[in-house]
Amino acid sequence: MKIRIGQGIDFHRLEKGPDLWLGGVKIPSERGCIAHSDGDVLLHAICDAMLGAAGLRDIGYHFPDTDQAYRNIDSKILLERTCSFIKDKGYSVNNIDCTVCLERPKISPFISQMRQVISEIVGSDPEDISIKATTTEKLGFTGREEGIVALAVVLLV
Ligand SMILES: [Zn+2]
Repeated sequence: MKIRIGQGIDFHRLEKGPDLWLGGVKIPSERGCIAHSDGDVLLHAICDAMLGAAGLRDIGYHFPDTDQAYRNIDSKILLERTCSFIKDKGYSVNNIDCTVCLERPKISPFISQMRQVISEIVGSDPEDISIKATTTEKLGFTGREEGIVALAVVLLV
């Protein structure tokens, strides 16, 4: 059995106005991510990790932000398409481990829902989707609530 590991990282600016989408779930928040798509930084990091593991370049290559087709697109669709790319290469997801770095709001009440949503798209057990949250102790752009960072590691088999 061939196993392939991939890592992904994504950043988005936070501003008042847009909805905050994380892991395919809408989170009540004063601020949301500025992006061409819905700005779901966690799903973007997962897509990049999956593409990386399969040697399929990156999310910007497949879904360019200059393409109007992806304007305000639901990132769950991008994850679905990424899953079909890796499936075409004969891979499936073994497990995903992620960290979301933001100061506010607290996302722990939404983590089980995110795991459910992601597991349904990638076709795995929610137990195989790990989502962790951290802050930067008020340091830097995440600490000033100017942005969010998400990191993901994926193992494909
Ligand atoms: Zn992104």
